[in-house]
Amino acid sequence: MAKKQFKAESKRLLELMINSIYTNKEIFLRELISNASDALDKRYYLSLTDKDHKVDRKALQIRIERHPENRTLVIEDTGIGMNQEELEKNLGTIARSGSAEFREQLEKATRNIDIIGQFGVGFYSAFMVARKITVESRPALSDEAWTWVSSGEDGYTITPGDRAEPGTRITLELKDDTEDEKYSSYLDEYRIRDLVRKYSDYVRYPIVMDVVRTETDPEDKDKTVVHTETETLNSMIPLWKKNRSKIKPEEYNEFYKSKFNDWQDPRKVIHYSVEGNLSYTALLFIPAEAPYNFYNTDFEPGLQLYSKGVFILDKARDLLPDAYRFVTGLIDSDDISLNISREILQQDRQVKALASSIEKKIHSALLDMLKNEREDYEKFFDSFGRNLKYAIYKSYGMDKEKLQDLLLYRSSQDGSYVTLKEYRDRMPEAQKEIYFASGRSIEEIEKTPGFARIKDKGYEILCFLDDLDEFVITMMNEYDGKQFKSIAKADLDLDTEEEKQEKERKAEENKDMLQAMQDILKDNVKAVRISSRLTDDPVCLVSDEGLSIEMEKILAQQDPAGRGMKAEKILEINPDHPIFATLQNVYKNSPEELKEYTDVLYDQALLIEGLPLDDPAAYARKIVSMMIQAADRK
Ligand code: ADP
Repeated sequence: MAKKQFKAESKRLLELMINSIYTNKEIFLRELISNASDALDKRYYLSLTDKDHKVDRKALQIRIERHPENRTLVIEDTGIGMNQEELEKNLGTIARSGSAEFREQLEKATRNIDIIGQFGVGFYSAFMVARKITVESRPALSDEAWTWVSSGEDGYTITPGDRAEPGTRITLELKDDTEDEKYSSYLDEYRIRDLVRKYSDYVRYPIVMDVVRTETDPEDKDKTVVHTETETLNSMIPLWKKNRSKIKPEEYNEFYKSKFNDWQDPRKVIHYSVEGNLSYTALLFIPAEAPYNFYNTDFEPGLQLYSKGVFILDKARDLLPDAYRFVTGLIDSDDISLNISREILQQDRQVKALASSIEKKIHSALLDMLKNEREDYEKFFDSFGRNLKYAIYKSYGMDKEKLQDLLLYRSSQDGSYVTLKEYRDRMPEAQKEIYFASGRSIEEIEKTPGFARIKDKGYEILCFLDDLDEFVITMMNEYDGKQFKSIAKADLDLDTEEEKQEKERKAEENKDMLQAMQDILKDNVKAVRISSRLTDDPVCLVSDEGLSIEMEKILAQQDPAGRGMKAEKILEINPDHPIFATLQNVYKNSPEELKEYTDVLYDQALLIEGLPLDDPAAYARKIVSMMIQAADRK
């Protein structure tokens, strides 16, 4: 029988498993039980929806067998089973290996802990404790049984098997004990009992195991009798049906980790029941961190859907709005039909009502977290804030009312997070608009022309560090009656009446020179003006209405061919900078030199903004020639 080879990335993962130093190897049992439970769910669902495959619920169970004499541990279920093709597909490759990220991470993984944790490797985790695994399976929908055998890295075989009942039997031949690891302890009755209780107590099918009992003989007190009993190890009460006040945080955490393939405790648990026209229980989780593929198209959001405790659908998308697609968990409703399919789900009125109720609950849970668990909320926002912003953007601002109070921005005051409401509440009376500035870091933003002036006035500035921020704000337009205002826009109105008059006077006096400069720069700028925002810098560029310079930069990155849209720019000159007197001088005494000065200043303004120069070599030549002239004059 020829051995088949594992797919490349599966092979790499197997190597990691086989040589694992992961300290939490015991999770293999939870993974296998969880697979068995899923398989039982599928079989039960089939039995309810297809009369040719009726099965007594009592027959659905998971059995654990211990065979210390040959160091084998068996996990067997009476679930849906797998045919030859499924064995090949499901166990020959890693289920979640589709994405490039996974492969990349796998290649990079030097410490297998990371990979085991991050991707929840399911079935393969059994190779941490077993040197050989045999999977005997018979699908519920066919009469052919198959046996899959593998000792790990050297591949696997699939041969016809003789299993009579639908279901799957997995036999683990445990590794030999070493000084550090006692693999044989997984054959210990108490260890198994503990592990099941710890990780799999809520599984809604009995997990049974034969245990040996020794009791005193009721007939003769000096004698003991030994007999075998089949014991159910789990309580079988689904966690979400338990009384909330009796559930320990660890129980939620273990449940989450085992069911939703995460290695970290969730950031937030949302567990509630609704009674009424539409009754349901929800057990929802917000992960501590964004899954590795969260911002990719291959990420599949959605909630599990149960009807009266019976599993119906995985990843039901229509139950969650896109804004909250990071939420995982399950919904159990008595009012949803068992026969509901993915297609019906989209149109069903009950489902729409359910989705809207879930949305409201998540929203209020987030607001509550923001109010009462600020530190956690900020961490949540670091992971998923971008998704909230994107939802506002994508809805063209229609969802803004729902989401705006969940947003956080770094404040110019001390770099800490601030909500729009907090910003609004502490706005001084005289401040008319909500100021923001964009950049890659707060330090960079602090250097934006105008920043210091606004800060001096006692106004706070929202620091936009995310590419999306400006785009989102254009969709939001205003918050609580106050417009958003970029400090890099031309019409930044900060001057007092006197200052305005003074500026107008200067503009009038220098009208001809400013016009001459604008003529030199032609279409590059819409105007050349006297600035009231500059303190130290000689010049700056600001944008007029419409696209901002920051947005121009982002669009240019997305379209390097340079067909992107451009911001309308205005060159501002600092009238209090010595360069201003120099310009006046040049214009008066040798106007033919004004072009060189203007070009250099314009290029400098581009550089300050982080924008590319049209002709860097020409700029360099001009600077050098000016340096030489300056030296000659000395
Ligand atoms: P995951 O369970 O996260 O999808 P696994 O590697 O644990 O990843 O399992 C891969 C697939 O193999 C499962 O999705 C399921 O289709 C199938 N499978 C695993 N164990 C069983 C089982 N006991 N019965 C039926 N199918 C199973």
